[in-house]
Amino acid sequence: MQKNSSIFVAGHKGLVGSSIVNELKRQGFENLVLRSFEELDLRNQHAVASFFMDNRPEYVFLAAARVGGIGANNKFRAQMIYDNLMIQTNVIHHAYLSGVKKLLFLGSSCIYPKFAPQPMKEEHLLTSELEKTNEPYAVAKIAGLKMVESYNLEYGTDFLSVMPTNLYGENDNFDLETGHVLPVMIRKFHEAKVHGCEYVDLWGTGSPRREFLYSGDLAKAVIKLMNEVSNSKTHINIGTGDDITIKELAELIKGITCFEGAIRWNTQMPDGTPRKLLDITKIKALGWVPEMSLKEGIVKVYEWYRNNK
Ligand code: GDP
Repeated sequence: MQKNSSIFVAGHKGLVGSSIVNELKRQGFENLVLRSFEELDLRNQHAVASFFMDNRPEYVFLAAARVGGIGANNKFRAQMIYDNLMIQTNVIHHAYLSGVKKLLFLGSSCIYPKFAPQPMKEEHLLTSELEKTNEPYAVAKIAGLKMVESYNLEYGTDFLSVMPTNLYGENDNFDLETGHVLPVMIRKFHEAKVHGCEYVDLWGTGSPRREFLYSGDLAKAVIKLMNEVSNSKTHINIGTGDDITIKELAELIKGITCFEGAIRWNTQMPDGTPRKLLDITKIKALGWVPEMSLKEGIVKVYEWYRNNK
């Protein structure tokens, strides 16, 4: 990318898109093409076709998606599969038709099988069945990845898919029902402390393991890949290489928020995948490593939450 290249960041208001925009600006990329949901509904094929023909961006970061934590994935199954299939199909196809130089599609580590060997390598995709709670979302993301691969093979496009692990950062969704575990825990512990509650109620058994990557680190990784990787034969995992149990995460956030009460585990709620640690050999070989420690990242996000929510 040149500093004046026209770059479309789809989904620029979300956790991932906003981090990519911040990092692009920090690195001096100024010709950013951004559209809010009200301006451009990416599920609308005609609107997306017109947008690409009128604006002709050279580079596309496809960070727009319907996402959510285990509760949202499990409950809004139809919206997860429909919205994601529509958004990515329209954007990838019209990026191809309008001659986009490079597109980067963001998937998710939940595309891997529920019981994949750990840490999960890129080649473990589609080797056994998926986790049920997020299957519709994962099937949509796998379709996006196969679309990228197929367009590269048939049409000679230079598109790339990346699979980030569980992400967190500023601009995250702190909704108690639809958010991911990390922002929701920040909110639950903070509110419990403020209201002097005796307990915080959390979901599942606390035994699953999760890997957490700061969205600012992800942004640096995807900009580096956009600049340095061409004609990749495979998608690329982006994670930290380390995971912790949900119980350990809870203790960490409890400490950071200074909540002094107890934790109750509601085992009626699902645990989801037991573990989904990514193998990050490929991206490390390209010279990228995450910079933010989990503790430092949670402190930063907690501060953002207190100032903005
Ligand atoms: P996942 O990584 O796709 O499963 O989604 P989440 O980010 O929502 O993480 C879910 C894990 O955290 C599961 O093991 C949940 O049982 C556990 N968890 C514990 N408390 C909560 C909570 O309050 N909200 C959410 N979303 N997950 C929780």
